[in-house]
Amino acid sequence: MAFWPSIVVATPAHSGVGATLTYRSELSLAPGGLVRVPLGSREVLGVVWDCPDAPPEGLTEARTKAVAGVLDGLPPLNACWRQLVKFSAQYYQRSLGEVALAALPPQLRELDSTQLARRLKKRAKVGTAGPATPGELNGHDLSDEQAEALQALAAASAPVLLFGATGSGKTEVYLRATQAVLETPVSDGKSPTQVLVMVPEINLTPQLEARFRERFEPGFGAGSVVCLHSGMTPAQRLSSWLAAHTGSARIVLGTRMAIFASLPGLRLIVVDEEHDPSYKSQEGARYSARDLAVYRAKVESEALLAASGRSWHTGPHPNPLPEGEGTEAGEGVNVPRCQVLLGSATPSLESWHAADQGRYVRLAMPGRIGGGMLPRLRLVDMNHQPKGAMLAPPLLAAMSERIERGEQCLVLLNRRGYAPVLACHDCGWKSGCPHCSAYRVFHKLDRTLRCHHCGFTERVPRACPDCGNLDIAPVGRGTEQVEEQLASLLAEVKRPDGSPARVARMDADSTRLKGSLEVQLAALHSGEVDVLVGTQMIAKGHDFRRITLVAGINADSALFASDYRAPERLFALLMQAAGRAGRDAEQSGASEMWIQTWYPQHPLFATLKKHDYPAFAAEQLSEREQAGMPPYGFQALLRADARTQQAAQAFLNIAAGQAAGLPHRDDITLYPAVPLTIQRVANVERAQMLVETHSRGALQRFLSAWQPVLHGCRSAPEARGLVRWAVDVDPLSI
Ligand code: ADP
Ligand code: ZN
Ligand code: ZN
Repeated sequence: MAFWPSIVVATPAHSGVGATLTYRSELSLAPGGLVRVPLGSREVLGVVWDCPDAPPEGLTEARTKAVAGVLDGLPPLNACWRQLVKFSAQYYQRSLGEVALAALPPQLRELDSTQLARRLKKRAKVGTAGPATPGELNGHDLSDEQAEALQALAAASAPVLLFGATGSGKTEVYLRATQAVLETPVSDGKSPTQVLVMVPEINLTPQLEARFRERFEPGFGAGSVVCLHSGMTPAQRLSSWLAAHTGSARIVLGTRMAIFASLPGLRLIVVDEEHDPSYKSQEGARYSARDLAVYRAKVESEALLAASGRSWHTGPHPNPLPEGEGTEAGEGVNVPRCQVLLGSATPSLESWHAADQGRYVRLAMPGRIGGGMLPRLRLVDMNHQPKGAMLAPPLLAAMSERIERGEQCLVLLNRRGYAPVLACHDCGWKSGCPHCSAYRVFHKLDRTLRCHHCGFTERVPRACPDCGNLDIAPVGRGTEQVEEQLASLLAEVKRPDGSPARVARMDADSTRLKGSLEVQLAALHSGEVDVLVGTQMIAKGHDFRRITLVAGINADSALFASDYRAPERLFALLMQAAGRAGRDAEQSGASEMWIQTWYPQHPLFATLKKHDYPAFAAEQLSEREQAGMPPYGFQALLRADARTQQAAQAFLNIAAGQAAGLPHRDDITLYPAVPLTIQRVANVERAQMLVETHSRGALQRFLSAWQPVLHGCRSAPEARGLVRWAVDVDPLSI
């Protein structure tokens, strides 16, 4: 008897979406199993998708190749995982093979059965302890708000949006919810329960990882918490992945890629800082890990419910899980399900809107732990400050006062380097990048000009390359310069112990070396540093105890940006930054958030002053509704990169022309092709076309039908020089 498994292998990005290849096998192969198969002249890793015992029509034995090997030491990837991958490929318009194989750890592609068996044996030695004995897991006594949130979470039958102020103790809610899942008894033969905790950038939150380990490793074993993120070595990633896949890891903590981890016992997905743009992938399949988390929880819940033999109780929710109590199905027994918990002090407008509509359950924790207050907003009108001042005198005075009292300050500036441009005032030369339509940034510390887009780096020239003038000067300010100037401005300021004030900087440059971020955070926590200057990196998630003043010194550019999401992002950033101040209740009464602006009357500041996210969201949503923008409308971008701008735009225009007659074409608006704001990067010209409609379904069907057309357009003579193209569904910036 022979079988004809259809196998998914890594295929180029756009080749025939959804395609699988048929092979031959003597054995019946389980769907989700991993195999090695010949492909061209190579042997590659594949995932079994299906395994019929008859060949597909028209295929003969002679024309099919045999499966070369089976990685039989591993349990198959389960149906939920396969469904997640299939959905992602369809929704984000990529090939099944690309998404499926990218979801597996890269090292898995290189192993044969024997090597894999060795890895698994090594892993088995790490082992895990059984369920923790009660009393071993101790956290804080819950605040009333935390207790209420947890209760509501336990009863929720839809995705939950935890709208918790900065410092309201969301992490403790995640920890308790995780604990409840891990302590759920599992019937024999079933996978142990698992939790996926997603964070925007794991390197920024070593604290969170430490808290999960501290809380759960004593009871559940040293291997019970694993991480998954791109900063790990291939060997570490494989090890974590195997631990999750075999069920020995109970908690996976990871960045957006972790959404694709194989988790056979998944019961809870936490998405911390759910508004963060880094959940959206910007390369390959441009998926949103937050949106996939919601989808995955639904698929997992359906599977659990089906396996438990209970039936649906269809209600108004798209996620129609019966309530745990009081319904016919439940009768007090917990219905098996996988929950999703999205947490943020500044939720995305998409999630906020979903909660407004009742599709998500909104839980609010407005108070800070210990009753501390959110900082008072102080706007500095730059129109009334000395010309050219980097820091307004009143702000500088306020900072000095804090330092003298032994308190700490954060200074936020979203621009690293010393100055964004170096210029010659004689001939007008500027430090442009020869490969991009952007300036190279002046980095004073290593005396380089660096392009932040393509990476092109050169030593700073001694004189103007065009006219030989020796007097070339920095224009504008970056974090390096603010650090330097603050150190001199605060030179006379003394800390309570009489020692001089200390200024440090934290940004992508200062934290490039492994371990340096931890060192810098430790310096702040220990009080070694009085003022920390940094990019948005310092605004995120950290639990700094002694910061009482946060200053945003140059936020104006975002107020008038053309991107309609800019206000949302600015508001979130400033709220998050403010959230770093006054986390110790005793000091919080006097904590302040200073913002230097030329536009103090801007309405965004009025809502920020009240820390009123709901008001801000309502106002933004009503603007979006009027304009038919997300979440009321649906968008995709067709992007093209080419040798010339002309070719890039030609590809887009031809594609638009050939869309005539496609399904839902009449419901779709195709905007004119335009160059990107930074039009050229690394000598490649970039253009895009916005695709907009009022219905998600219409967008999906139109895009699927458009794919083959786009393939065809590649070879149009006008598009000669096209380098690549991509569709970005639900783009974050347009
Ligand atoms: P958020 O993530 O909501 O900004 P955190 O989870 O970082 O807030 O909590 C803020 C601080 O409060 C942390 O130092 C945490 O250890 C502490 N904390 C949280 N819950 C409690 C509690 N129930 N009792 C005492 N302290 C708590
Ligand atoms: Zn010059
Ligand atoms: Zn460049």
